[in-house]
Amino acid sequence: MATSPVLSFNNLSIKEINRHKLFATIYRNPNLPKLRLSQLLDMSLSTIDSNVKRLLHEGLIVPSGPLESTGGRKATGYSINARHKSALGVFIRAESVIICAVDLNGALIAQSEVNLPYRQDEAFLERLALTVSAFIGDHPELNAHSILGVSLAIQGIVTLDGANTRVSYGQILDNQQLTLSAIQRYFKLPCTLHHDSKAAAFAALWEHPQIENAALFLLNENVGGALIFNNTVHYGNAFQGGLIEHLKVDHLGLKCYCGDFDCLECYCSKHALEQQAQLPLNQFFAAMRSVAHPEYQAIWQRYLEHLSIAIRQVHKLIDGTIILTGALAPYLTQADLQQLVALTNEHNAFALTQSSSMLTQVGTHETQMGDLLLSVNDDSIVALGAARYLINAYLECFEANPITDPKCNLMSIQLNLPENEY
Ligand SMILES: [Zn+2]
Repeated sequence: MATSPVLSFNNLSIKEINRHKLFATIYRNPNLPKLRLSQLLDMSLSTIDSNVKRLLHEGLIVPSGPLESTGGRKATGYSINARHKSALGVFIRAESVIICAVDLNGALIAQSEVNLPYRQDEAFLERLALTVSAFIGDHPELNAHSILGVSLAIQGIVTLDGANTRVSYGQILDNQQLTLSAIQRYFKLPCTLHHDSKAAAFAALWEHPQIENAALFLLNENVGGALIFNNTVHYGNAFQGGLIEHLKVDHLGLKCYCGDFDCLECYCSKHALEQQAQLPLNQFFAAMRSVAHPEYQAIWQRYLEHLSIAIRQVHKLIDGTIILTGALAPYLTQADLQQLVALTNEHNAFALTQSSSMLTQVGTHETQMGDLLLSVNDDSIVALGAARYLINAYLECFEANPITDPKCNLMSIQLNLPENEY
């Protein structure tokens, strides 16, 4: 396994700098012909030509077909070869794992959910490694040599410290003992380990690179929270930043697993909702949306009230976008969002803004109402974000990384890269 390179433009030759700049420009501006690339980069056409030839030869870019022209010969454009590298994201949950593979655009190549109950033992890690190997084997479209690594995310705070990276506070079954080095022993590919909520925030930031400040509510089996400040995921001094799930939202005396009482977790997790309704999530929503069950509607109303209390507190702190995602997100309707905004804005001088027209992006399964953004990725958003950490670090080799992350980057993440490959 190669160690991740410490790379900067300072120790590259001019020739290499040109090649890296060209790749980064093509990554950000697909389908441009050589002439336009030459203008954008202020490089001669012959320099562009030789570097295009080299990037094509290396498989980093592909011709993207003849472009429309206003006259004369049609020019060929170039795009990155998105399958040149891929990355695996694994979300470890209490009862199952979600595995996904993404390409260099961070787009999903394949995804699978496998029943694999979490255990704090070596046998679990062995089964996890076999499950990931089987996933790779089941997807011949994944070139095993091109996989940058395996990025794991878990319900628990992860302290990122190189080989000492560990779960410092776990939400499922004693996983505080889990360390990256223990996991790595079972994998040939380099592994990284992340907090599930922060991985979800990284995924959301990838899809919305314009977001400056945001709070993410991961409405999963357990609630997760993460903050985005100044266009970067916030980790905090001890990686405990953004624990929205432990904000107090009521006074009923419900005990939270953190030791405190009446946290958002006690009222707005999938677990809490299913406990209250005594129904699985899909059956609860089916029953609640029909007029015949006022008792379920009352449960849902209380759920929205508790969620709005947390949103109100968080919004006062971050003054930014509120992102709702996770297992519950696919069940939320525009009417729910409208009600959440109304509840949040009651007696609140610092109200959420409401755009006059609601934007529904069907293609990306998102709904935005002013400050409120519903991202319908269910809990797979965690695996997606974990995998995108690796893609982002690889793109950093070319200074083409869409996200600047202070903790998870080329300096801290090991990638499966032969020496001098880039
Ligand atoms: Zn708590």
